[in-house]
Amino acid sequence: MTWQNAVETLEGAASACIQCGACIPRCEVLESAEGAGCARSVGEIARLFADAAAAPTEEAARAAVAALAEGRPALVFAVRRCCMDALCTAPCPTAVDARPVFAALRALLHDAGVTTMDGFTMTQVDREWHIFSAYRAVHGIWYNDLPSLDTAREQGCDTLFFPGCTLASYAPALTREVLRWLQDQGMAAALCAECCGSPLRSGGLADRADAHRARLVARAVEAGIRRVVLVCPGCRDEWEAVPGAEALELVALPRLLAEGGARPRPEKIAAAFGRAAGEGAEEAPAASPAGPLPFPSDGAAGEGRGAPVLALMDSCHDRDGRFGGPLRRLFADCPMVELAHHGAEAACCGAAGAVSLVDGPLCERRALRMLRDEPRAAGADLVVANCPTCAYTFASTARALKGAPASGGGDGLPASCQYLELLFEASFDWPATFAQLEAMWTGEYGPWLIQELL
Ligand code: SF4
Ligand code: SF4
Repeated sequence: MTWQNAVETLEGAASACIQCGACIPRCEVLESAEGAGCARSVGEIARLFADAAAAPTEEAARAAVAALAEGRPALVFAVRRCCMDALCTAPCPTAVDARPVFAALRALLHDAGVTTMDGFTMTQVDREWHIFSAYRAVHGIWYNDLPSLDTAREQGCDTLFFPGCTLASYAPALTREVLRWLQDQGMAAALCAECCGSPLRSGGLADRADAHRARLVARAVEAGIRRVVLVCPGCRDEWEAVPGAEALELVALPRLLAEGGARPRPEKIAAAFGRAAGEGAEEAPAASPAGPLPFPSDGAAGEGRGAPVLALMDSCHDRDGRFGGPLRRLFADCPMVELAHHGAEAACCGAAGAVSLVDGPLCERRALRMLRDEPRAAGADLVVANCPTCAYTFASTARALKGAPASGGGDGLPASCQYLELLFEASFDWPATFAQLEAMWTGEYGPWLIQELL
């Protein structure tokens, strides 16, 4: 996203906004910006910056944006606290979309020198070494033996499995198992363990994010790929936005799983539920993966009965339900409830936008809304995340709260997992992942990591 593109994005939103105010009460970021005497709505914020950035030269425009930011720091804080989940504009009568607006605002603030790379150096995913590639290298996670984007043409692959960074890095066995399943379905599938580029956008590096995803699409087309299978709707959004991506069929993995007859594994549901309850996974009842669910579907939440009640945590990138719809079909035989925020009203898990760098408590509130408050209100025992990064966030939140009963207590949280863990044999191992993430900085590779990533 160039400076000009960012300005055009803001201009478009500002012109479309009719100042109905509907977005404001839907988010504390907008409400608090209003309270601080700043702009009130997404359209108004866009207008303020679009006007500042419309100076005759880019140099003057950068200076004007910097001056606006200096004069209204609460506005900058609002932009940084925004997770870009676009919940605020979901009902916008003129279809203003907060996601590109706030991405453009971050890009302008970065280009004007208002924000820096502090906190974003490790997620420069367009470089060889970033937190995900370094984690895989340090811990010996390789996929060199599998067909890849680079070898797809020579190996006759027309399908690309794109697990996304979190799954490919922290659950290699599960990643491999899903690829095998696709191949068993008759697809000539290769694996791409690269990032979709979205973390760059959080740091205001929208131009690099755009270039990164454009390179991915170009390489896929060049390699003869016709279909890209995506685990997570966030990655789908990045692929879909690239001009030329129409040449590729972008497929939600849940749709293939539903059509291919995948079934939830009762023993995995019990194991995921047992993890939160402090039970060992080995105590879970054994059952055939393809067999009927052995749990009584009484739908009652609570203790002392067999069937955990599931709640799907929709990704905020999946308001159209292209992932959530087939996921509901996949789990149709399980006792299920809906969270208050689901489908078109899906909300952030707390991870998006790297908001934790400026407002950790806000991130925790967002995570606990989806992991604790809404599941409890709905009577859910097990929160099943669509996006692997949401699953990471929930595991991290639960870990942080363990032993801190004053703030809610990790032990009292409903269990959580990612949907693939209930359909396949392998799982995430979050305690091991967190331990490895910490250990890599003090081990033999520590100095190299510090040099490459910080
Ligand atoms: S909901 Fe849309 S039209 Fe209404 S104030 Fe917000 S951005 Fe403007
Ligand atoms: S995009 Fe999300 S965090 Fe940002 S203002 Fe809208 S609702 Fe709030």
